[in-house]
Amino acid sequence: MSRVPLWVLPGLLWGAYAPGAHALALTAIRRGPRGARRVALTFDDGPDPVYTPKVLDLLGDAGARATFFVVGERAARAPDLVREMVARGHEVENHTWSHANLWLCGPRRTEREIARAHEAIAGLTGRPPRFFRPPWGMVNLAVFPTLGRLRTPCVLWSLQPEGLRPVASEKMASRVLRGIGPGTIVDLHDAEGVRGAPGRLLDALPSMLEGLRAAGYACVPLAELLSPA
Ligand SMILES: [Zn+2]
Repeated sequence: MSRVPLWVLPGLLWGAYAPGAHALALTAIRRGPRGARRVALTFDDGPDPVYTPKVLDLLGDAGARATFFVVGERAARAPDLVREMVARGHEVENHTWSHANLWLCGPRRTEREIARAHEAIAGLTGRPPRFFRPPWGMVNLAVFPTLGRLRTPCVLWSLQPEGLRPVASEKMASRVLRGIGPGTIVDLHDAEGVRGAPGRLLDALPSMLEGLRAAGYACVPLAELLSPA
């Protein structure tokens, strides 16, 4: 009888802890109710001192309100920008403290990444975050008890116009306008993401917002999208 080598064991444990936890991520929120022509634009990885103010202006011009999944340490470095988001009617939510890859974080670091950002955002905005989005959508088993304690469900997305490779801004806008439907949660980046993503987003956003308006969609923050109409 062949024996399983000992070194296989840590791999199996990690596989259950990190990739295996994606079975739990099936409970994550990926879209809102389909009953109304409402969608949620979500912006990850900011705030960015250069790009985020321009995104805020474009959203304001279009009368659109959105959700920003900010990185805690970036938010702490740009408190005025975070308050500006809230003042303009947007939502500020949790995208970890340092944009850590949770597949590589043990339970204690996972807890710290989520809780530290939660507290920082609550301190800056005066309201605790209501949602959490894991960087790259990657979770581990320790994520879920922490989210349960903080009462912040995991939110992924239904439409991501730019995944792992750069997508030209016209294509980014047309992918959103083709794929959109009532309740869609769109994943965009006002900082970081694929190289150059925020610049392409700025070019894509005016036609994206105009197309959504022409198709009769209201862009609302997540809490509004997910609450009964
Ligand atoms: Zn991210």
